[in-house]
Amino acid sequence: MKKALLIVIIVLASCKPSTEKKPKAIHFEDIHFNAIVVDTHNDILMKAVDNGVVFDQDLTGKTHSDLDRWKTGGLDVQIFSVFSDGAVKNAFAIANQEMDSLDAVVARNPSKIVKATNYSDILKAVKENKIAALFGVEGGHMIEGDLRKLEALYNRGARYLTLTHNVAPTWATSAADETTNPDLPNKGLTDFGKQVVIKMNALGMMVDISHVGDQTFWDVIEVTTKPIIASHSSVYSLVASRRNLKDSQIKAIAKNNGVIMVNFHPGFIDDSFGEKEMAFLQKHKIEGDSLLKSGMDEWYTMDFLYKKYTNEAEAMRPPLSKLIDHIDYIVKLVGVDYVGLGSDFDGINLTPLQLDDVTTYPIITKALIEKGYSEENIIKVLGSNLLRVLKANE
Ligand SMILES: [Zn+2]
Repeated sequence: MKKALLIVIIVLASCKPSTEKKPKAIHFEDIHFNAIVVDTHNDILMKAVDNGVVFDQDLTGKTHSDLDRWKTGGLDVQIFSVFSDGAVKNAFAIANQEMDSLDAVVARNPSKIVKATNYSDILKAVKENKIAALFGVEGGHMIEGDLRKLEALYNRGARYLTLTHNVAPTWATSAADETTNPDLPNKGLTDFGKQVVIKMNALGMMVDISHVGDQTFWDVIEVTTKPIIASHSSVYSLVASRRNLKDSQIKAIAKNNGVIMVNFHPGFIDDSFGEKEMAFLQKHKIEGDSLLKSGMDEWYTMDFLYKKYTNEAEAMRPPLSKLIDHIDYIVKLVGVDYVGLGSDFDGINLTPLQLDDVTTYPIITKALIEKGYSEENIIKVLGSNLLRVLKANE
């Protein structure tokens, strides 16, 4: 008996996996909450000004973002989009109003969120366990053709300017301009447009090429002396949207030592989404048209319809893997140093499955681990790539 027991013990001992020798598997939450997580595009300020949402309150179910949910999602650095449609007359005033709305939240919550203007401010905020808040101005029209207004926005904490939105200023053509207007007299940057880029380089403000047309993009590459960003764009080779970046552009950004922050919008990451969206709009055309007629704009009309027809909207959401594919495509094309996250939360009406709101950033980390990414490379994607570019612009 004793001998048999001994044999069993020996067999068990030899079967025991040698876990001591293997490196301990790290849980995704350990990586995620230790990394500096940066998102370069969130549109909550638009909703704050348009609808009066107060985002230091719990807005679960109403918006993608609020102060406590950012914390839950492990977000450390938020670049807040300052946006108005390119057609408005008082864009600079709106920009300041949106900035006021963030400043009010910061003033009320000094233990949770702080304005940061540079790399060392960001590190300090992270150390103090506070969210570092910066602005990104979306659309060159917001400087109203005046370099002093550009500087004023910089002085209030804007660290990037998206040169165009869809409706562009007179000095740069957007992707919408360049693809829908074949009679465009000039494409790309005018002399003043080049001055804007030069001024931004001098100030230490990142040039953002999301939304710009191809010619504007290549003009920027020629003029800029600092690394650039795409604050919220994905990959054209995977989804042929004019808002996405072609391989040649991705390579040029890598060569410039810049970074592409991948957008979560289903229409930019899922090739089959466009067709589903068309069918949805067709089905609800009468209702949609009447909302538009009543004065509701296109974006809020879509938002209204998606919220009303929840089950249909749910069925249209792409899997999380579609987003990961865009990150991985850029990594395979140019390396892991040139990609990050530019969610567009609260600027998009639908998100990929599982990425319901800003509390869900950790599942991106989980998915990257499952894809075989090392901790070092995940940290780059989550934020350190963007921080490198921000620092290089200072
Ligand atoms: Zn945008």
